[in-house]
Amino acid sequence: MRDTVLPHPVDPAPRNADAGPANRPSPYRTGRGTGTVYLVGAGPGDPGLLTVRALRLLRRADVVFHDSLVSDGVLRLVVASAECVNVGKRAGGRSTDQAVINRMLIDAARRARTVVRLKGGDPLIFGRGGEEALAVRDAGVRCRIVPGVTAALGVAAYAGIPMTHRGVSSKLTFVTGREGEDASDVRVDWSRHGEAGETLAIYMGVRGLPSLATRLIRAGRDAATPVALVENGTLPRQRTIEAPLGRIGDVAAAAGITGPALIVIGEVVALRQRSDCFEARALHGVSILVARSRPQRSRLARRLAGLGADVLQAPAFDALPAPDASLDAALLCADAYDWIAFTDETAVAACWDAARRVGRDARIFGALRFAAFGRATAAALQRRGVRADVVLHSFAPAAISAAFDEYARSRPPCVLFPRIADQRSEAAAALRNAGAVVHEVIACRTAARDDGGVVRGRLENGEIDVVVFASSNSVQVFRRHVGPLVARARIAAIGPRTARAAEAAGFTPHVVANATLDSLVRALRA
Ligand code: SAH
Repeated sequence: MRDTVLPHPVDPAPRNADAGPANRPSPYRTGRGTGTVYLVGAGPGDPGLLTVRALRLLRRADVVFHDSLVSDGVLRLVVASAECVNVGKRAGGRSTDQAVINRMLIDAARRARTVVRLKGGDPLIFGRGGEEALAVRDAGVRCRIVPGVTAALGVAAYAGIPMTHRGVSSKLTFVTGREGEDASDVRVDWSRHGEAGETLAIYMGVRGLPSLATRLIRAGRDAATPVALVENGTLPRQRTIEAPLGRIGDVAAAAGITGPALIVIGEVVALRQRSDCFEARALHGVSILVARSRPQRSRLARRLAGLGADVLQAPAFDALPAPDASLDAALLCADAYDWIAFTDETAVAACWDAARRVGRDARIFGALRFAAFGRATAAALQRRGVRADVVLHSFAPAAISAAFDEYARSRPPCVLFPRIADQRSEAAAALRNAGAVVHEVIACRTAARDDGGVVRGRLENGEIDVVVFASSNSVQVFRRHVGPLVARARIAAIGPRTARAAEAAGFTPHVVANATLDSLVRALRA
């Protein structure tokens, strides 16, 4: 994402125009130089709850205007070339005036093709999306609405609450708990919600909760009715508090709610499945920084996130071109090899770049067979239209020769191995041990990037619970690019060698796990 002003984009042919009369008007050309404003629901936080259509729009947006409610995880999916503007409340301040936002949307549509107005949850549920759509259409700009998972639905599901249930609740009401702040609001008549059997999903209700609860009880709702208050729903920091209606005001005040929170009132709350809800995951709510020494997305980070941890990887890396043309030269005589082997996505990308550089395409690989170490590497090939002939999951020579043996050979296989400079190559050694003749070429270099102290700041603020070092290399890279400070975070090292390197660098490990994820998780939960 960038925050510079966009040049006027060229209006290309419509992406999804079907065959038809050649002079059919472009769906994008709604007026001279006018784009389309898409009012898009970002869901309650978890990027997995975006719709496919929303994701496609984020990938091709020229400008994105978003609220503060839109999560970082969703914003990370916005294409890097888009201009991204936060028009929501910042640090307790005021949000941008609605009339100003309307104006910004209209102006943006006059200079850009795809303008995305990204709103938390669904744009038309308590999101003023209706007003924005009217203003945009009144200005003669095309407006499209892409619904999102509204907080009530996403949050209830992740908290394990069935909002309706046969024999318990046959009515669900979405209602705002914010009243009186805007004279033009239609007032809610709480006396009409006193009956059992109705589930209330209350948005923006934390501040007014004690008075709401009193009014509902006065209207006839039993003071023992169960209530759940879900803060930061669907996010790694999701927290659910439960209390009966008669006491929820006090309990919520004592809990100190700071994030967005949804209140669910009704008998269905008693049916909550605590055991399989989002918060029951092994590492839910634990914020983990995985120190890395390579640019690829680490499998460890992915698996920790799958267990509910809020995972950050640092430092960031840039891929730089190879120091010489040996990769280009090797690819130009690809038929001298039997195989090409990859251990990571960055090298795969570098090969495709090299093919382009020498004026060729994927056919440059000719009859080469492809070997990929790891599923992520195989997936990187697959995305480029190549199915790896073998996917290797270990460096064990026996496994490698078995894989090669599947393909008849009369001489040792000759393997081209494009790799990243400065990285220890266990794979090359393993291939040689398995009897291959290996030609290593440097496909690219990578360089860790300093982030201007952002990660250090988060560590110092106590926002990170654990720093995980998975290799001694990651210790060195972290020391160099993030710094010596690890403040209050606990330090976990995987394997004794990593632990010794961490100790030597001044990061005394609190936890030393062996190489399995299970052992790390056990240690982190202890
Ligand atoms: N358009 C949004 C609602 C905006 S009003 C939607 O459809 O969800 C903002 C309110 O939504 C918050 O005060 C809170 O009550 C609720 N909310 C939004 N995101 C939430 C989340 N991740 N967890 C809990 N409540 C959330």
